[in-house]
Amino acid sequence: MAIPPRRASFPARLSDSAGAGSVRATPVAQRQPVPPMPSGAGMDSQAVRSGMVERLRAQPGMHPQALDAMSRVPRHLFLEPGLAAQAYLDNALPIGHGQTISKPSVVARSASVMLQALGARPAKVLEIGTGCGYQAAVLACVADEVYSIERIRALHELARRNLRALRLPNLRLLFGDGMAGAPVGAPFDAVISAAAGEHAPPAWLEQLRPGGVLLAPLGQPQRLTVMRKLGAGRFESRVVEQAHFVPLKSGTL
Ligand code: SAH
Repeated sequence: MAIPPRRASFPARLSDSAGAGSVRATPVAQRQPVPPMPSGAGMDSQAVRSGMVERLRAQPGMHPQALDAMSRVPRHLFLEPGLAAQAYLDNALPIGHGQTISKPSVVARSASVMLQALGARPAKVLEIGTGCGYQAAVLACVADEVYSIERIRALHELARRNLRALRLPNLRLLFGDGMAGAPVGAPFDAVISAAAGEHAPPAWLEQLRPGGVLLAPLGQPQRLTVMRKLGAGRFESRVVEQAHFVPLKSGTL
């Protein structure tokens, strides 16, 4: 079940004490037995997932590497068994604590917009809002190194459990308030938020490298927005599409 890395994984391994403040880094791939896979109504078939990917391919603006990642990550593993039969439909579904797993088309579009905006495989990506860990796994297939931060401890731990079997050594899960970004991993080529705020918190923009991009649902009504850092304090931005994400909240639970 492990997803083989497309490239040799980066060598750095964060220890639990490497995080700043209340942020702790947890390596996902731990040398433990692979737990049994939930089988959920035959949803572990590659054919069902391929059908989803072909429907995504028909949408404009999908990047081939994003589609490849979508075909490699088993979305049903991130859902409770009762919802697994819906895993490859284009639905947002509940993951507990009032949060949802993003629609496959939203995950594919976010990864596609990032890859197109950067024009190369990103070295380092920060995801705000790990939730169940699905998008983090997709991003770990298209970037050398991914950090993903979640403010609800129970979801951070759910994601860790969901991701263990996939053995993605280039993915680091952090518990903390993502409004402050993740100084432990900065600077990033891309910051992708799965939660919607009125404005981009300054830390996200500060932690981008020059040329790096922020992709976040911003404003009211929400619009998925790309901001590129031109230099210190200088940005250009464009709206991708209307969006419907859960709200960005401060503090931890
Ligand atoms: N990435 C998930 C989507 C999860 S929904 C997927 O793969 O489907 C968005 C998540 O953002 C929720 O789990 C919510 O708790 C989290 N979130 C909201 N505000 C946050 C913040 N300030 N820091 C970190 N996570 C936050």
